[in-house]
Amino acid sequence: MILTINCGSSSLKYQLYTTDLSEVVAKGLIARIGEDGSYSDHKAGGRGEKVELPVPDHKTALELMLASLMHADYGVIDCPAAITAIGHRAVHGGDVFVDSVVVDDAVMAQLRACVGFAPLHNPCNIAGIEAAMRLFPGVPNIVVFDTAFHQTVPPEAHVYALPYALYAKSGIRKYGFHGTSCRYVSQATADLLNWPIEDMKMVICHLGNGVTLTAVDGGRSVDTSIGFGTFGGVPMGTRSGDFDPSIIFHLVNQLGMSLKDVETLCYHKSGLLGVSGVSNDMREVTTRAADGDERCRLAVEIFVYQIKKTIGAYAAAMNGLDALVFTAGIGENSAEIRTRICSGLGFLGVRIDEATNEVARDGYPNISAADASVATLVVPTDEERMIAMDTLRLTPDHLLTTPRGVSARGYEQARPL
Ligand code: AMP
Repeated sequence: MILTINCGSSSLKYQLYTTDLSEVVAKGLIARIGEDGSYSDHKAGGRGEKVELPVPDHKTALELMLASLMHADYGVIDCPAAITAIGHRAVHGGDVFVDSVVVDDAVMAQLRACVGFAPLHNPCNIAGIEAAMRLFPGVPNIVVFDTAFHQTVPPEAHVYALPYALYAKSGIRKYGFHGTSCRYVSQATADLLNWPIEDMKMVICHLGNGVTLTAVDGGRSVDTSIGFGTFGGVPMGTRSGDFDPSIIFHLVNQLGMSLKDVETLCYHKSGLLGVSGVSNDMREVTTRAADGDERCRLAVEIFVYQIKKTIGAYAAAMNGLDALVFTAGIGENSAEIRTRICSGLGFLGVRIDEATNEVARDGYPNISAADASVATLVVPTDEERMIAMDTLRLTPDHLLTTPRGVSARGYEQARPL
């Protein structure tokens, strides 16, 4: 069985797949790690339970996960050795990793070297891997980096026009995020259209709490909207997106804000929340905008405008566009936002069928109008599955083919070949 682990700054999400990835056997969330009100919510088929309990750190969270997976009533495995391989999401791999890798000492050292680039996330990812190595001895760990997919972005798009030494010596460049989602969705799009990904130019709009637009040319990321940190690009729920950086000097030098305050402002008080003043949730902001709230209306206008502008820029960067793809919470669920983004992109060949757009999430992913020259799709993302797919791909063959003699309670013990 393949286990995926996604350690966020205060949460752990996990999913257990059969080794052929045909079925999700169990999944869970352990939330508010290190905070008051922490809880574990485990599901295995129709069973499982949600319990509030103290979870001081990620190590404890992984122990709870294993206890749930082996639970006397709703557990799905009898021992840790029933797990064939574990895939971990890691946020930042620096400019070293262009693909997922099997964990070894060098990989752990590189993850530690990248802590300064992702101080909230990489330490949690490292803690998760270390705990997994201890709890699942002998089971290979694979790391899937959010940054890896964007390592193909060429220098003219990833080097900032700052003194070159900052790039060469200090690693200051565009890294990009949401790469795992983008890779999954771009391949799924090519599969849906039955079109070789090598021949396609796509813009993937990952519109969730975090927002990333990515230009994918021939299956490779060639530009992406988030850069060095995670608040640049287009506006998000609470993050600002790009703005004139001289504003930061003004906030500090003229308005007396501390750099810490500015950081909080950019990451947590801006975006939809900052402009609307009411919420970071697109559902609430669009509802209030429809009811006449001017600032909510403006927040949505800004969001849509910046995305539309970026799509145009990426079509120019790729010298064409074959597919425009919407994914993640807003992209998958908001027909209104999709309509607003697409209107005015007719000059690129983007035209959507409004009736199909309304029902896209019910299994009608291709929302293009009959006369469109660009395919517009709604493709649900599945980062966990992408991690599981990479984990399976990188797991040594002998672990997949040799029956391990361990009980996985009714599920297969080795990959059916
Ligand atoms: P994600 O980060 O992908 O889980 O996306 C979360 C965001 O999706 C939420 O904050 C909401 O703003 C947005 N969302 C979810 N459902 C809808 C919907 N029906 N309409 C608009 N936005 C939605």
